[in-house]
Amino acid sequence: MAIPELQWAQVNEGGRLHFKQIPVPKPGKGEVLVNILYSGVCHTDFHALNGDWPFPPNDPLIGGHEGAGVVVSKGELTEGIEIGDKVGVKWINNICLKETTYCVPRRNSLAIPRTGHSSVGASSVLSDPSLANRMGTEYCLAQAATVARIPDGCNMAAVAPILCAGITVYKGLKTSECKPGQTVAIVGAGGGLGSLAQQYAKAMGLRVIAIDGGEEKGKMSLEELGADTYIDFLKSKDIVNDVKKATADGLGPHGVILVSTSPKPFEQASEYVRPNGTVVPIGLPPDANIKASVFWGVLKMLRIKCSYVGTRRDTAEALDFFARGLIKAPYKLIGLGQLQEVYALMEKGQVLGRYVLDMSK
Ligand code: NAD
Ligand code: ZN
Repeated sequence: MAIPELQWAQVNEGGRLHFKQIPVPKPGKGEVLVNILYSGVCHTDFHALNGDWPFPPNDPLIGGHEGAGVVVSKGELTEGIEIGDKVGVKWINNICLKETTYCVPRRNSLAIPRTGHSSVGASSVLSDPSLANRMGTEYCLAQAATVARIPDGCNMAAVAPILCAGITVYKGLKTSECKPGQTVAIVGAGGGLGSLAQQYAKAMGLRVIAIDGGEEKGKMSLEELGADTYIDFLKSKDIVNDVKKATADGLGPHGVILVSTSPKPFEQASEYVRPNGTVVPIGLPPDANIKASVFWGVLKMLRIKCSYVGTRRDTAEALDFFARGLIKAPYKLIGLGQLQEVYALMEKGQVLGRYVLDMSK
């Protein structure tokens, strides 16, 4: 297949998206060029666009970090990866290879070069870190050692959301240390991460309390995703009591997975998690704080363990669950030119499951 000189991309410049053509990069040492077929739209990219976090993102910046595609060319030192291989490109797209999500030489979609921030380091590896390595494009550079191997037979559109949302919630559930038969509350259950979290939790033998807003999300959680209970935070008058009541003994869930995009649940979860339970903050709403009473926290022996994407091992495990047909979360396909429409829905909290960009549209 001939690789074009130019490609379409959604470029965030000055806090606005510009749909335009940019050069297709060439892979350097240790890099592969991936023809992105599908790319999931994660709320993280919308946070970056809005400047929601304590540091400014690169400008220009191309979002997208759930890319599923095919290797179309490769640089030197990429043994083991061949042209034609099906791979996934993730949020952490360049690491020191010591199996951590927090090594210094790594790159994520914020790719802030030369600032000393945690996302830096490898800016020298790729020629143009802000533009070259993202999945809001048709072609994207990736570190050969960091790409995920997509198992044979996977539906490439359906697998795309696993590459951030799936890995992240799978790792979060492991972090909660919930055991089969125990109960986990998933807060933000109707969104991209939440819908996958419900599926992974069921596959891991857990009972699920899904918490989100609106009837559609309740219907999807109970009828499609296997939740045991749905609590509508827009209707509940006492969310702490409602969550506790949803467990058979009234003591609350053993784990809480926080993937909501608003801060309130991060202040409430410590009140309804059961004694010895674990609260796992994952969502990244702006200006959010985790809150817990010291007195009740000590008496309950509360654990709060934040969780950040996942390692290469978590990736392989999360993909294995998917390849075995255990994870079927709803997604809708749209064209790259329609990205702004998804962001508008995200802003209103109206995304049901995941939107996936179909690069052929
Ligand atoms: P999304 O927009 O698809 O879903 C967010 C959901 O939260 C929506 O369904 C919304 O209705 C719900 N919500 C908002 N306020 C709520 C409340 N008070 N109670 C219950 N539910 C509420 O977003 P997403 O793509 O699933 O991402 C979720 C969050 O996870 C984002 O903040 C994202 O940046 C973050 N994230 C973190 C990591 C990590 O490694 N820690 C990885 C990926 C995404
Ligand atoms: Zn993400």
